[in-house]
Formats: sequence, C-alpha cells, structure tokens
Amino acid sequence: MAIHIALAGNPNCGKTTMFNALTGANQYVGNWPGVTVEKKTGKLKDASGEEVNVTDLPGVYSLSPYTLEEVVTRDFILKENPDVIVDLVDATNIERNLYLTTQLIETGIPVVIALNMCDLLKKNGINIDVKALSKKLGCPIIETSALKKTGLKEVIAEAIKVAKDHAAGTVSAIFEGSVEDKVSAIEAELPSSIPEAEKRWYAIKVLENDSKVVEQLGLSADNRFSRYTKELEKEFDDDAESVITDQRYVYIQKVIEETVKKPAQKMSLSDKIDSIVTNRLLGIPIFVLVMWAVYYVSVTTVGTFVTDWTNDTFVGAIQGWAGDALAAAGASDLIVSLVVDGIIGGVGAVLGFVPQMAILFLFLSILEDCGYMVRIAFVMDRVFRHFGLSGKSFIPLLISSGCGVPGIMASKTIEQDNDRRLTIMTATFVPCGAKLPVIALMGGVMAGYMSGDMDLATMMAPIMYFVGIAAVLVSAIMLKKTKPFSGKPAPFVMELPAYHIPSAKTVLLHVWERLKGFIIKAGTILFLACVVMWFLSSFGFVDGGFGLVEESADSILAMLGGAIAILFRPLGFGEWQPVAASITGFTAKEAIVSTMGVLANVSEDLSEETDVVAAAIQTWFPTTIAAFTFLLFNLLDSPCLAAIATMAQQLQSRKWFWFAILYQNLFAYAVSLIVYQLGGLVLGAVAFNVWTIVAAVLLVLMLFMLFRPDPYKDQKSYTRSSVEAAS
Ligand code: GDP
Ligand code: MG
Repeated sequence: MAIHIALAGNPNCGKTTMFNALTGANQYVGNWPGVTVEKKTGKLKDASGEEVNVTDLPGVYSLSPYTLEEVVTRDFILKENPDVIVDLVDATNIERNLYLTTQLIETGIPVVIALNMCDLLKKNGINIDVKALSKKLGCPIIETSALKKTGLKEVIAEAIKVAKDHAAGTVSAIFEGSVEDKVSAIEAELPSSIPEAEKRWYAIKVLENDSKVVEQLGLSADNRFSRYTKELEKEFDDDAESVITDQRYVYIQKVIEETVKKPAQKMSLSDKIDSIVTNRLLGIPIFVLVMWAVYYVSVTTVGTFVTDWTNDTFVGAIQGWAGDALAAAGASDLIVSLVVDGIIGGVGAVLGFVPQMAILFLFLSILEDCGYMVRIAFVMDRVFRHFGLSGKSFIPLLISSGCGVPGIMASKTIEQDNDRRLTIMTATFVPCGAKLPVIALMGGVMAGYMSGDMDLATMMAPIMYFVGIAAVLVSAIMLKKTKPFSGKPAPFVMELPAYHIPSAKTVLLHVWERLKGFIIKAGTILFLACVVMWFLSSFGFVDGGFGLVEESADSILAMLGGAIAILFRPLGFGEWQPVAASITGFTAKEAIVSTMGVLANVSEDLSEETDVVAAAIQTWFPTTIAAFTFLLFNLLDSPCLAAIATMAQQLQSRKWFWFAILYQNLFAYAVSLIVYQLGGLVLGAVAFNVWTIVAAVLLVLMLFMLFRPDPYKDQKSYTRSSVEAAS
C-alpha cells in the first residue's frame, strides 16, 4: 500500500522547497504568499522500494473555510485522508505557525512537525527546546532546512513510521475549563459514524458553528448542539469562533514561553529596509524608479546591443547565406523567398529580441525572489483600496509583466467574484514579455522620426509599463462605480517574508522557464504564422488569375487588411500592413513583430543593408504619434489566444467572458482614438476632423465615469464570495 504524506503549513514556510527536494520536481518556489492554490502530488525519490506519495498543499494560516487556499487544504486533509501530515513550521516565526499546528493535530490524522528554516535559528539567536515542545504538543518534531536539505531523510522516516503505526498524537486539552467541557459534551453526542480520533475536530467546529461542518453532518443551522454555542457566547460575551481563536493563542503563548527563547526584539535589517521601501510616501516613488530602471535597462544597454547585432548582422548574414545556398542548390525563387523572407525574416525578427526578454526576466526574477515584489502588493494596497480594490489584485498584475497566463491564473486567490473578474479583465494591460519586442521595435521606428532625439523612443518600455498600470487603475475606478463591480474590497492581510539574497539557481531557473516558452513559440506558432503571412502577402489575384504578385500591395493580405484598415484609420494606422500585424497579434503578441518582419522583407529587395526592416515599417506610419497609437492599441487590446483561453477558464461564464473581450477592445480603441486625435491635434500632426469630435466626446465620457461620485459608496457589506465555485 502506498503511503500518502501531505505537506501542510503557513504560506512561505518552505513547503514547495521541501516538496521539490523530496520528489525531485521543479515546482515554482516563490516569495509570493498565497499564489499557489493548487495541490501538487509527486512520488518520493529514494523511497527504497516503498511507494510514497507526497502532496504540496496551499499555504494557510488556519483551517477555517474562508479563503480558497483554506478550502483546498482543508478538503484535502479531511476528505482524502492522507496517512500522515508533515506540518512545516517556520522556526523563525513559530508563534504564528503553531496556530495551524493545533488545528491539524485535532483532525486526528497523525502529524509530524518539520521545524523548518532551522538554518536561520543560530543567526537570529533563537533557542527552541525541541524535546519539551514535542512533548507539549504531543507529536514528534524534526529539525529541518528545506533549503540546505538537512533533516529531510529524518522527517520522512519519522512520517513513514507514524503512518504505519497510525500513531495519532495525544491531543491535549488546550482550552479553558468551560470551553473544554462543552467540547467533550459535544464529542460524546456526535454520531458514532465519526471515527474516534476525528471527534475532537468535529466537536470544536460544531461549537464554532462552522457552516461547512454543520452542513456535512446533515444538521440545520439551528441544531441540537446550538445551545452549547449559545451558552458559550453568553458566558464570554463574544462569538464562539473568536473565543476559541483567543484561547488557542493563549495556549500557544503559554507553550512558547516555556520552550522558546528569543533575543529581545531589535529591528532586523529587513525591517529597516521595509521602513523605507514600504514607507507611505516613498513606497510608490521607489517602485516607479525600480521598474523604470528595470524596463529601461532591459531594452537599452546590453539588451539593445545584442538585439541590434542579432537583427542587423546575424539574421542578415543568415538570410544572405541561406539565399545563396538555396539558389546554388537550384531552389526556385519561390522557395528562396519563403525561406529567406518569410521564415528567417519573420522568426528572426522575434528571436533578435530574446536577449532583451532574458534581461527583463532576470530582473523580474531577482526582484521577486529577494522579496521586493510581494511588498509592492502591500504598498499598492493603500492605493488600490482607495479605488475599491485590494492589494491582492496587484499580485496578478505583477506576475503578468512576465506572462499574462500565470498572471490571470493568480487571480484565483481573490475571493470576491467582482474583484476577481475585474482583475482577470485588466491583468493583461500590463505588458508581458511577448509585448516587449513590439515595444522595442516600435520604439526604434519612432526614433527614426526623431533623429537625434532617441530619448523618448528608449523610454517606451518603462512608459508602456506604467501606461498598462494606469489603464488598470482607470478601468478599476470606472467599473467599480457600476453595480456589477461595486463593493468594498476584502481586507488584505499578508505576511512579508524577510528579504534574502536570491539564489542563482532559482533565479536562472525562472528565467529559463519563462524564456523556454518564447523559444518554443518561435518554433511553432510564429513559424506557422510566418509561413501563412508570407503566403498571404506573396500571392494574390492579378490579371484575372491567382498567382505570385509583383507588389505585395496586390496580395490577398493587402486585400483583407485593407478591408479592415478603414476601422483603424481614425487611430492613425490605416495601412493594411500594421492592421494585418495587429490581427496576427492574437496568436501571440510577438507575431506582430514577425509579421512586420515578413512584410518588410517581402516588400523590399533583399539587400545586405541593415536598416531596411525599420525603414520599411516606418513607411506604414505617417507620424510618430501614429506609431505610438499603434503600440498603445496593441498593448491594451485583447491578449493572445493562450491568455484569452485562460480568461475564459477563469471567468467561468460566457457572459462575463464576452464582456471582458468587448471591454478590452473598446477600451483600447477609445484610448487610442483619444490619444491620436486629441494628442495629434495638440502636436499639430492631425488636422481637425469628425473624429476629433468623437474623441472629445469619448474623453468627456471617460472623465465623467472617473470623477462622478460613487453611487455605491455606502455599500457596507463585502460582496459574497463564491470560493467553492472557483475551486
Ligand atoms: P511555500 O510557500 O511554503 O511553498 O514556501 P516556498 O517553498 O515557496 O519557500 C519560500 C521561501 O523560503 C523561498 O524563498 C525559499 O527559498 C525559502 N526557504 C524554504 N525553506 C527554507 C529553509 O529551510 N531555510 C531558509 N533559509 N529558507 C528557506
Ligand atoms: Mg508553495
């Protein structure tokens, strides 16, 4: 019989690190408390013949049924009956961690405590009397360090032993007299179908009037145990759940006093850094500076240097070489064009940006792993709360700067339906890694107009990042004032893990995992998109027949793009090429770049000259501001298919899915129209026309939606969450 071990514990106590060490898996170890809401199961490696399964559960502070993480963890423990729970306790934070421990012990499933992060005890001057603690809690404790891989064999050996003996620990009476009496009384009255070992858990939950347990036992809200709850509440003049929570803390405090010695609290380095970084006034300016630097450095400096070299020298050389080789082999012009202009031109245009993406991902991974990013959610909570959203909504946005798919998935941890929907709809406004090549390419195109003035163009990446965040805020403010999205944000409680120097391995693994996706995409989706685009832009109807066209302006793509282009003329990019590129962007955002690469190559005579691609692209945009609105539109419109599919899966409603798609594209269109028409008018690039009036009306409308008083301001209650629906 296989033995099943569940790893449980608070967020950020090292469960995933331990899971990876035990199973040899490569699960995401993140400094994001609460992002993993999925359980992962793997097989123990080095199990010496025995079959041992290990499950990594979402981190929780308690087993109450309020958050999605709690529901997933609790259901797993109670319904799937693991043979043993390995409870990871962060030794540096033992008071808080033991709360969950007391609840886990009550479930009657054998518990082995892994006192994790023991490598930090000495440094922090903490002394724990492990033997005494183990005796008080009534379960074995093994000191571990998941990071340094110490104590892991021992903890598993102990867990297997306990599982085989079914040795549930001795549960001590931890509450005060009358509470303990009521628990015993309820235990005695519980149906005999409940195993003896689990009775204490059910009795306490019944006393707390936990809706889920009451329902599970087939009782009504007002049941034969209700009198115990009522008596308790009368005696303590508080609700039963609070009384029990308080008494748990009192018990833990007592245990800690006798077993743990901590040096007098002095301000740690982390606290000192936090007093600056999460400071009320400085927090946001510092965040802006940091992200500005990240995006600026990624697309300029090393990034540009490598990208320029790949684009101009490397891809050009390969094109020349492949062209010669194919011609020498007797390939037809058609094949030469397909390979050289289509495939190498298109895929090469994107691959050239991989170094920039790598640098961006490197910075993002370092910021995430050292613990800075999670603080931003905390800092932004103060801003978001103002507009009716919680800082929890900011975590998906931060993750979306790598890729929208995990970003949208991270919204799962937001319990309230309305806020979760809002976050899903807007998360992809933040530019993901795939949009970086588009931004860099268009920045270069814009620079072409502003010869000598490269500044604005090189600033495009940081500008677009903050435009994305601004778009989220604007959307949130407008939508929160409408009925379906109204409601107070839920309280946002989060533990800030101590800063630490990121490990090179973790960081490089993250960078590689993110990059891998793009490289695979380049070989599959982009490759196909390039072939299709080359075909559509090389063939057409000429002289009454179908065939290769001289001028790509006669191609099928020009025909199709041209038909839709009329829609985009008010935004400044009415040529068929950018429109065709925007549409291919729905397959993957980098496809915008690869399509432009194909179209530029097809339209130009192949030459060794370097700037042909950028120069060809420039001819599609009449002015700098037209190039800018093109970029803006492609930043804000619906994301790529992979992200759209994730949206559909997370929204779980056809109605809301279509609303989201409609909102994204209308918002992108409206903002682009306003910027092009009104911005262009101010800059003297666009003349007054009918669309100027439309843009002005839209602007007034948006300003009205932004600044009108909130009709739902006085809504006191939180909107009901549907934790179950999302699980
Ligand atoms: P989870 O939320 O419980 O899954 O925690 P993770 O496994 O994601 O770890 C959170 C952070 O703690 C990561 O930055 C780990 O590198 C770090 N960590 C995990 N275990 C240890 C340990 O034993 N010692 C130290 N110093 N750090 C650890
Ligand atoms: Mg984890």
